[in-house]
Amino acid sequence: MSVDNNIKSILAEIGDTTLVCVSKTVEPERINEALRAGATILGENRVQEFEAKCAQLLPCESHFIGHLQTNKIKKAVQLFDVIQSVDSLKLIRKIDQRARVLGKVQKVYLQVNIGNEPQKSGFRVEEIKKAITEIPSLKNVCVEGLMCIPPLLSPEQTRPYFRKMKYLFEEMKQENQDNINFCELSMGMSNDYRIAIEEGATMVRIGSAIFGKRQL
Ligand SMILES: *Cc1c(COP(=O)(O)O)cnc(C)c1O
Repeated sequence: MSVDNNIKSILAEIGDTTLVCVSKTVEPERINEALRAGATILGENRVQEFEAKCAQLLPCESHFIGHLQTNKIKKAVQLFDVIQSVDSLKLIRKIDQRARVLGKVQKVYLQVNIGNEPQKSGFRVEEIKKAITEIPSLKNVCVEGLMCIPPLLSPEQTRPYFRKMKYLFEEMKQENQDNINFCELSMGMSNDYRIAIEEGATMVRIGSAIFGKRQL
């Protein structure tokens, strides 16, 4: 199957759910194929890689979905429309500072470690409600969603984690401040996006089902 066909069939299948086309490791030419076929949002997990590619890309929205190192924050705030992978208060404070310098309000999602996995980054469910109380003072970020990467299991086994995320998302939606407005629930990747949508994802992040298996 071609990139063009893959995008079209995924878009038809997911309906109202927003597609983030995960283009990490993919060459600009093939990314542009996806954009021509109807993808509108790219997901990248390396700041420098995206910086090197972005001038060659057709117009699109860009979302950062990787672990953001402190020394890459400035570049990330310059380059990305949304940073989905905010995994600590320390990071969101730094993003806020950089965004202020650049005169930007940075859209962010909070990453949740929904499986409480020790090796994974993200807020724990118990932490997130306390964390949210600090956000109103940060005027150069706007929190618009939650994102998660569930434990690596078979698709059906991920369902309870997606369900927990949806429950948390509905709770967080009650939080309404000038800079807090939860409207996106970003969950589901190539192997489990159908389950994620059944459990309430508003946004899925799909890479290999579009571009084929990654080499790297
Ligand atoms: C790579 C990646 C994806 C896409 O994974 P696929 O299995 O290729 O669809 C989604 N989300 C994040 C955070 C990723 O790093």
